[in-house]
Amino acid sequence: MIATLPRVEISLPGIRHNARILSAYFEKEDISLMGVSKAVLGDPRIVDAMIQGGVRFIADSRIENIRRAKTAGIKAQFVLLRTPMSRADEVVDCADYSLNTEVNTIEKLSHCAARKNIIHKIILMVEMGDLREGIAPEDLLAFIDKVRTFPGTRIAGIGCNLACHGGVLPNERNMRLMSDLASSIEQEFRTRLEIVSGGNSANYNWYKTTQGPGKINNLRLGEAILLGCETATRTPIPGLDTKCFELIAEVIELKRKPSIPLGETGQDAFGNFPAFEDRGVTPRAIVALGRQDVDAGGLTSVDNLPVLGASSDHLILDAGTRRLKVGDEVKFNLKYSALLAAMTSPFIKKVYTQGW
Ligand SMILES: *Cc1c(COP(=O)(O)O)cnc(C)c1O
Repeated sequence: MIATLPRVEISLPGIRHNARILSAYFEKEDISLMGVSKAVLGDPRIVDAMIQGGVRFIADSRIENIRRAKTAGIKAQFVLLRTPMSRADEVVDCADYSLNTEVNTIEKLSHCAARKNIIHKIILMVEMGDLREGIAPEDLLAFIDKVRTFPGTRIAGIGCNLACHGGVLPNERNMRLMSDLASSIEQEFRTRLEIVSGGNSANYNWYKTTQGPGKINNLRLGEAILLGCETATRTPIPGLDTKCFELIAEVIELKRKPSIPLGETGQDAFGNFPAFEDRGVTPRAIVALGRQDVDAGGLTSVDNLPVLGASSDHLILDAGTRRLKVGDEVKFNLKYSALLAAMTSPFIKKVYTQGW
């Protein structure tokens, strides 16, 4: 086999296993899961592994990613996590559900769906303090009253998203509030909400300790399934595979160099003024990988070699006492930021272990 470098090796059995463990765990309290595929660009093999593991929905923030999975023949309920108003027509074509916060956007979705004689389902996002997307809780009933009779759309439920912008943690208080909001909507409009989606991978710790999830009956999980950790403290979830993705790249230079730059210094390639600690002359490896491929801060070398820095296409490693040679492969584990970039880089090959 010709080794392609750089490459991400993706364990499909690992992803299937994680989805299966998490589905069973949340099912105990009747919480269904959306497998979030945006970090892997809707990769059909990975999405299929999530479905085999038991997730009920596939959710993604990009129309292109949903289309990619559907074109490959994936059958699931698709949820668009972010609605572009100007592309309402495409949204109702590709997604069964979308998350929404604007009356005008829902109106456009309604027109497009009605024209095609379909029902597009709307999940209204509620602002619970993280200050990204969401309708203020006090405005929710009036909002629903405006949109509930639109033809072509149906209010399927509500959702909230925490721990993304403001780092606000899901807890008993804000989840109780979501649950109470769901109850008041059901009473006010004499209806039953199909989906009350409490959040993302950061909701794991809340679920672990809650006295009961109330009306919360859905979560949207990306990182927990893909990387095996919850995201409030980035702790591995017991029983999950945390090594489903491994990035492998090639050493292209190996030399001993001083740890402090020589000469007068100004900005680096990205406008920062770098600072260095003098550790004498050390062996350094340059790896053929760069910021155009990954976020260097999200890489951990499997052999514990410190990452000293990265420019557009050179990653500098402290080679330590490890006997590397030019042409050797070095392996990295990925954090979310590095996974997102690596899966998006056209320069990194995607290789599947025990795939289709
Ligand atoms: C990305 C995203 C998720 C998934 O987040 P993870 O931390 O990967 O679980 C859930 N909901 C929304 C709205 C998102 O944008």
